[in-house]
Amino acid sequence: MIPAAFDYYRPKDVEGVIALLQEHGDDARVMAGGHSLIPMMKLRMAEVPHLIDLQDIAALKGIAIDGDTITIGAMVTQHELINHDGLSAAAPILSEAALQIADPQVRYMGTVGGNIANGDPGNDMPGLMQCLDAQIELLGPEGTRKVAAREYYEAAYMTDREDDEVLISVRFAAPTGGYSYEKQKRKIGDYATAAAAVQITKAEGKVATASIAMTNLSDVPVWSEDAGDALVGTTCDTEAMKAAVAAMLGDIDPTEDNRGPVAFKRHVAGIILTRAITRAWDRA
Ligand code: FAD
Repeated sequence: MIPAAFDYYRPKDVEGVIALLQEHGDDARVMAGGHSLIPMMKLRMAEVPHLIDLQDIAALKGIAIDGDTITIGAMVTQHELINHDGLSAAAPILSEAALQIADPQVRYMGTVGGNIANGDPGNDMPGLMQCLDAQIELLGPEGTRKVAAREYYEAAYMTDREDDEVLISVRFAAPTGGYSYEKQKRKIGDYATAAAAVQITKAEGKVATASIAMTNLSDVPVWSEDAGDALVGTTCDTEAMKAAVAAMLGDIDPTEDNRGPVAFKRHVAGIILTRAITRAWDRA
């Protein structure tokens, strides 16, 4: 299908974006890589009379690793995440997850900011950012503010971001210990039936900390504090993993769709989380 007619803007700085968002209100939307927004416009599920392209805004680009703090600009693409040498060493879970998003063509265009801002429960970056305890930086008419990724998502396609705010960057402490991003999908290029992001640190042969987040198993990403707590102080033995899976299953709320009925999704979620914990523990 062909999208409805729209006016196209390509400002050179973020202030220009904010001014356009203030001028046009609900009728304006920003576009990053366009690989979620344009399909929605073509299907006429999103009507955007004023489309603001972020491609020319240098301030939204770039990856900075400053000591143990990592900052990723909103317009960094998934391809750049995978191919950035420093980032792959400092936070390897990012490239492991990004490599499981769609296909190379989508990853050349799809951005970190667009993936986080979109609010689609099937997007992989939101759960990953919750696992890493990232802070999301937003800029609006009143200035900047930060929101924890674990508090950013309200419902499907509903986030804490106001209509006149732009997602600028995402920031987190470089993770330590073992990691894993496991994803079950129907075929290459598909969104997750279930995905799990896991970071584990080890001390004296036992789990010191564990962070677990699940994707596409509720209308928002699910950071399961209880699942992580179930592993702490254990040797990640079978009983501990079963306890973590049971805790995670208490936190998710999948619905039936073309990826399967609820019982199937819960079964897959358990298997995927067990695999992710096993691999993260082996790497810790
Ligand atoms: P856009 O489409 O440009 O924008 C998406 C939304 O976010 C829009 O509402 C836009 O207004 C808003 N937005 C964008 N940037 C900002 C910003 N800086 N500030 C405020 N709001 C902003 N994703 C996955 O995670 N996993 C997958 O498996 C996957 N498979 C895919 C398969 C296909 C065939 C396709 C086409 C896409 C797939 N995607 C998948 C989605 C892809 O990763 C998208 O690129 C991503 O979700 C959105 O990024 P974008 O840069 O294209 O954002």
